[in-house]
Amino acid sequence: MRLRNVPGSREDIAESSFVIQEPEKHKGKIKELFPGRQPLFIEIGMGKGQFITTLARLHPEINYIGIEKYSSVLVRALDKQNELELPNLKFIRMDAEDINNVFDENEVDGIYLNFSDPWPKDRHAKRRLTSRQFFARYELLLKPEGKIQFKTDNSSLFDFSLEEVVATNFKATEVTYDLHNSEWNEGNVMTEYEEKFSAKGNPIKRVVFIRN
Ligand code: SAM
Repeated sequence: MRLRNVPGSREDIAESSFVIQEPEKHKGKIKELFPGRQPLFIEIGMGKGQFITTLARLHPEINYIGIEKYSSVLVRALDKQNELELPNLKFIRMDAEDINNVFDENEVDGIYLNFSDPWPKDRHAKRRLTSRQFFARYELLLKPEGKIQFKTDNSSLFDFSLEEVVATNFKATEVTYDLHNSEWNEGNVMTEYEEKFSAKGNPIKRVVFIRN
């Protein structure tokens, strides 16, 4: 998701206390940026932030960081957070390829990947957020008992992810090809893309990856 250039978005982000500036400087101490010492969950590719903002409202006992590559998208999440001022929600503008420069070993309690970009060309497979290259990055920063939850309506990306995980130190659990009609739907928080694609009749697939 890339919105047309939003004037002033870079400046808004650079000046905001809800955005972690120069995040590499906080590696290993990122939890200290929140008022409460509590578990930390991150969403990679949060888009406009509906999912993570809802979770932060529902769970004040958990800290959340939303990661997004584009300023023009992140600024939408920031607009909402400027109204809500949730103490347990912060954002980072970065490419997730650099995530190990920002989060130290075992620093993260859980990861959400929602409707990640599919990168359909084979030569771009390593850019997919569920490629073996990304699993290797997650392995470093995720606590041993930490989980990675992945939702998408994209069958090719979902199948790729289930095949790819076999080559990693994670395994797939709680797999469903129709989340909204499954036993796991209760308490499901919808993302923007999830609302859009399920309204079109696309079933939502969901898997939870845990360590082998
Ligand atoms: N998660 C949201 C949802 O479900 O509504 C947004 C989904 S949108 C298809 C994917 C988002 O991930 C885009 O906003 C895109 O900019 C972001 N993204 C993709 N690759 C990324 C990366 N390597 N690092 C950070 N953000 C990324």
